[in-house]
Amino acid sequence: QHAALLKSERLATIGRMTSLITHELRNPLSSINLNVEMLAEALQERGIDASDEEIRPLLETVIEEVDRLRDITEEYLIYARLPSPKTQAENLDDIVQGLIDFHQWEWSQHGVEVVVIIDDTPLRVEADANQMRQALLNLIKNAVEASSPGDEVVVRVARVDGVARVAIEDQGEGIPPDGLERLFEPFFSTKSQGTGLGLPMTQQIIEEHGGELSVESEVGRGTRFCFELPIAKPH
Ligand code: ADP
Ligand code: MG
Repeated sequence: QHAALLKSERLATIGRMTSLITHELRNPLSSINLNVEMLAEALQERGIDASDEEIRPLLETVIEEVDRLRDITEEYLIYARLPSPKTQAENLDDIVQGLIDFHQWEWSQHGVEVVVIIDDTPLRVEADANQMRQALLNLIKNAVEASSPGDEVVVRVARVDGVARVAIEDQGEGIPPDGLERLFEPFFSTKSQGTGLGLPMTQQIIEEHGGELSVESEVGRGTRFCFELPIAKPH
């Protein structure tokens, strides 16, 4: 009880801090972006070709790095400001299918195919559709990032024992035991450009929906994340 309280206080403090910091970063980042574009134009006006092979990569690097920082700060903000879910009856199979259709092209660029298996349709659950999409996206993104080209990620949706079950299974690198212990700690990441916020955010979303997020993994074989959601009551 005591430990749980301390943990939630710490999370709240982290939340307030990240919110402050990322907020302060937003405006300067937009300003850098804008100024690089203006710089390119100014060069052009002075007869210096900004698409020149020496200059262009420099400008592109600045723009790419700014984009990356913006993505990271967005992830921090989403986590820091995660509201309580506003749930209503939703078709879980539609949410999953729609999300995967939307991102499939991007994932295929990694050489990874995300396969959906829907055992029961329609599968009505009580959910906040946006938050559910965010949770699924975090899990599938991790699965794709852990995979090698040619691997498959399988997302399975089924009705089991009166609940809806979603499983995300990859054939990627797997997670060693010490990693499994720390998986849900905010900021735990083994990636050079990871935030370590995807899983804590996902766990919070699933738990607020009355579900539980579990994981099984074997190094060199792959990883399976799984969660259950309550079925929506018929009206
Ligand atoms: P991030 O993706 O930014 O590193 P996450 O909270 O999403 O942060 O994940 C934390 C860590 O958990 C990852 O850095 C990785 O080491 C591990 N992890 C999560 N999902 C998987 C997976 N499907 N396969 C292997 N490792 C994983
Ligand atoms: Mg992640």
